[in-house]
Amino acid sequence: SPKVHAEKTYTIGTDVTYPPFEFANKNNKYVGIDMDLMKAIAKEEGFKVNIKALGFNAAVQSLQSNQIDGVIAGMSITPERKQKFDFSDPYYKTGVVMAVAKNSKIKGLSDLRGKRVALKTGTAAADYAQSQQKKYGFKTVTFDDSDNMYNDVVNGNSVACFEDIPVMQYAIKTGTKLKIVTKPANSGYYGFAVLKGHNKDLVQKFNHGLKTLKKNGEYKKITDRYLSTDT
Ligand code: GLN
Repeated sequence: SPKVHAEKTYTIGTDVTYPPFEFANKNNKYVGIDMDLMKAIAKEEGFKVNIKALGFNAAVQSLQSNQIDGVIAGMSITPERKQKFDFSDPYYKTGVVMAVAKNSKIKGLSDLRGKRVALKTGTAAADYAQSQQKKYGFKTVTFDDSDNMYNDVVNGNSVACFEDIPVMQYAIKTGTKLKIVTKPANSGYYGFAVLKGHNKDLVQKFNHGLKTLKKNGEYKKITDRYLSTDT
């Protein structure tokens, strides 16, 4: 039977580049685990999405000021964020690691005294690093996206950066000349976020769709698409 109701469109903010979760492919199409997951859930639940690649911090700020409906951007569910946002069920495991140049002798935070560390604005990894800054006495510089943060370390301007483990592992696997030197700290999960008290229906649809995709094998297909083969 013909559809009588137009599908609702939600505006979803994301990062500019955060592979394997969101990135532009060779054809300049936005792909990645988050993108494919969002599209598959929207299809399953009967809504449309308008994806806006704003950058991580800008996406979170836009959500906070109610300019967009949701954020999917490898966004960590943290106690602080739960005060401002409502999260979906967790959909991917993460933790914060420190990475240094391939040839670096730095082995951990205690080698950072007086040195410069690159961070990404507004991230859980930056929060973690800043929580350790007094103890270990390093200086920081911030970037709006992961690529520029990595480059600052590759180029030797900074001696280390802090990033989520799945993202750092993927970057290294795909050619970024860094190595991970710490065990994951502040382990947690990624979730889809809406502004607290808003878009309850959207979170419900996300959770319902996620459950379906986990049951029918589509979730695994999506993660395998980016993680199981040599990319
Ligand atoms: N997972 C991190 C956070 O939520 C970083 C997300 C990102 O850089 N896209 O802060």
